[in-house]
Amino acid sequence: MIDVTNIIPLDIHTDDVTDVACQGAHYDKVSGIWYTEPHELNGALREYVYDTNSFNIVAPYYLVITSKMHCWSCHQITRIHGVMFTRFMKKNQDGQGWQSVRRNSFLFHINSLPEEIKRNIKASNYYLDKSKTTGLRYWMNHCEICGERLGDYELFCVENDAFRLMTIEKLLRANIRKVNKLFVSTAGNPAEHTKTDIVRYLCDARFVMNAPA
Ligand SMILES: [Zn+2]
Repeated sequence: MIDVTNIIPLDIHTDDVTDVACQGAHYDKVSGIWYTEPHELNGALREYVYDTNSFNIVAPYYLVITSKMHCWSCHQITRIHGVMFTRFMKKNQDGQGWQSVRRNSFLFHINSLPEEIKRNIKASNYYLDKSKTTGLRYWMNHCEICGERLGDYELFCVENDAFRLMTIEKLLRANIRKVNKLFVSTAGNPAEHTKTDIVRYLCDARFVMNAPA
């Protein structure tokens, strides 16, 4: 738990720890994140800061997992993409302070991404869209064949065939890319017309064995 509301995460991947620490950067051991506070931000640290002003989730690096599934509309095979963390920080529900977490987790219902991260995810069928059923606006997978929206709730909370309870066999066939850069985003924003709803945006990444045939 970090008892500071306004942190500025830093994209630091250096062994020269004494140098950045002297310049006012702090290291959170649990999440592995470097950060500073607004009153400590100086010219030397500014080059490690992303151009984003609002966020509720930060990770020191991220995995982009590209798997395949049958589209539930056209039943053809399409690629789908998911962002996974092994450690991260999330803003507390009351908006005060941050919680450090070390756990394999998928992030979904992502509302905004800095340019730096969009460039690294680069998947043509994963982009900002609005759900027909819930009205949520977030980075969404789309079928590569028919363009159908493949909503995060199904992929991460319901559908056992996708990221939720992904089997080890499926994980081994997936493309897994580690991006060794800071991740910062806003996730879990409710829809415009249901501002008070709580939207899930994290789930455990639990890779399971296939049941014996
Ligand atoms: Zn389709």
